[in-house]
Amino acid sequence: MAEGAGFEPARELTPPTRFPGVRTRPDYAIPPGRHSVGAVNGLDFIDQMGAALEEARLAVGHGDVPVGAVLLDATGAVVASDHNRREELADPTAHAEMLVISRRARELGDWRLTGHTLVVTLEPCPMCAGAAMWARLDRIVYGAADPKAGGVWSLYNIPQDRRLNHRCDVIADVRAEECGTLLSDFFVRKR
Ligand SMILES: [Zn+2]
Repeated sequence: MAEGAGFEPARELTPPTRFPGVRTRPDYAIPPGRHSVGAVNGLDFIDQMGAALEEARLAVGHGDVPVGAVLLDATGAVVASDHNRREELADPTAHAEMLVISRRARELGDWRLTGHTLVVTLEPCPMCAGAAMWARLDRIVYGAADPKAGGVWSLYNIPQDRRLNHRCDVIADVRAEECGTLLSDFFVRKR
């Protein structure tokens, strides 16, 4: 069979989201570190996730799904914070993670954000996990898992795919319950 045979455009696939048995993580994928593993450089990311949660709550004010993110520099200081503004800006790329990464890079005048840690209330999607790679972040810390769109572990393992030329550490489940409840409450109220 010729290479590429069998490939069909995603829009013709039904259903588009669930393919039992199809692996989207490489064999060597490493499960994300759990919060209980302990502090990294003296940080347990509890307070930093609190700052991300505060950001997330602001998104509701303009009808956006409550996801918040903060970016930490190498010392652990918060250097950027923002929340999902997809509805507000009518911009599919205006996820909290994209906004903090772009702002910090512009501020530094350098797209390389080596030494930085992204702290976000929800597991990043493939776009944001990709952006974290292209920005060369050191670490992604997230709260709730996203089984429907997670690009860090749930569906894909972008930050630790050896085929890419950068990898970063992942810590999951930091204040996961609070982060998840914020989201589920939002969707319950919306219904
Ligand atoms: Zn995203």
